[in-house]
Amino acid sequence: MNDPYKNAVKQLERVSEILRLDKSSLDRLKVPDKFLEVNFTVKMDDGSVRTFKGFRSQHNNARGPYKGGIRFSTEVSESEVKALSMWMSWKCAIADIPLGGGKGGVIAETKDLSEGELERISRAYVRAIHEIIGPDKDIPAPDMYTTPEIMSWMVDEFIKIKNEECKVNSCECKKNDLIATFTGKPVENGGSEGRTEATGLGGIYILERLAEKEGLKPAETTVAVQGSGNVGYYFARLASELGFKVITLSDSKSAIINKEGLDIEDATKYKESKGSFAGYTNAQGISNAELLELAVDVLVPGAIENVITDENAQNIKAKYIIEMANGPITPEADEVLNKKGIIVVPDVLANSGGVTVSYFEWLQNRAGEKWEKDDVFAKLKGKIVSAFDQSWDAMKEFKTDMRMGAYILAVKKVVDAMKEIK
Ligand code: GLU
Repeated sequence: MNDPYKNAVKQLERVSEILRLDKSSLDRLKVPDKFLEVNFTVKMDDGSVRTFKGFRSQHNNARGPYKGGIRFSTEVSESEVKALSMWMSWKCAIADIPLGGGKGGVIAETKDLSEGELERISRAYVRAIHEIIGPDKDIPAPDMYTTPEIMSWMVDEFIKIKNEECKVNSCECKKNDLIATFTGKPVENGGSEGRTEATGLGGIYILERLAEKEGLKPAETTVAVQGSGNVGYYFARLASELGFKVITLSDSKSAIINKEGLDIEDATKYKESKGSFAGYTNAQGISNAELLELAVDVLVPGAIENVITDENAQNIKAKYIIEMANGPITPEADEVLNKKGIIVVPDVLANSGGVTVSYFEWLQNRAGEKWEKDDVFAKLKGKIVSAFDQSWDAMKEFKTDMRMGAYILAVKKVVDAMKEIK
């Protein structure tokens, strides 16, 4: 079994050797500042009452308030949430936004829930964790199987709780501030233009920069995308609009390939109407395992953790991997891929577009502003391309891989901030 938290700690240990990090900083960073486990009850549509388990992990706030998504999935575990919160600390540092690392999750199968049940779970989870979140404390956002609509319910519940508290304590709550407690909200309810596609688009700016560095021409570059959720879909669509040959897409049950390039919109429409890609006639069906081992130029794991492990790393034939999911490659597999000369653009850099635009949303809320989409995208591009270049340069300077290049920059920033606070 691959344990995400153990993997995150192994990556931290690797960079601490390169940076010759002192033991006390390393020990501190191995564990989150705070980890909260909550159990709460929700009334289901059939009248029964069910208990759900949720978590919030706050890894480090030396650089700013904790920041990170909330996922709803049956795979959510203490180990996963802790790992994801540590990765958020590195992600915010590498993206150069003044935020720390946090993450939350609820163990739930969203596809079995009605909209009403989903709303009640979202609100009950916020009631359970409200004491440790806030616009200057910890700022949640969407992640796997959570949506802008869910953020609306959550922020609404949070504002209700704070207003009640304010009545009792006769203080004044500023709505602009409270609404900034959650990001990834719908645009009409305080969300930022461009937040929905931000993670995928950030990955595209990375792909374009990589292509520039390595002399890859879009029309001659094949790309295999694993996934088709918010991240995978936008990445695939935007890459194919730029002329890259995106030949695969997948969901948890099925994967499809068209060696001439997929029509992303057509395939996505099919999946939306049938529930999966199975039976789609403008492509062939393959397994998710086969998808990962295709001889493509760029492989983009954009779905879940631990899909490339020591069991299949040797069979990976892509020249480049852009990690759009969090934690898709285990440390053991990383070693194999590095030996094979495959360049891996790490998750903390490649998918940092989401949290970067979340930060822009937080800034807009606090200032009572609304930025134009083009403005959001231009700012995102500036930040993510600069992060890519710095990680690339660190990789060359330290003669290491790109994950360690990014980690060198990120971990150093967090450690420096910790020293300033002491
Ligand atoms: N869940 C996203 C991530 O893993 C976004 C987090 C955020 O916007 O705070 O990066």
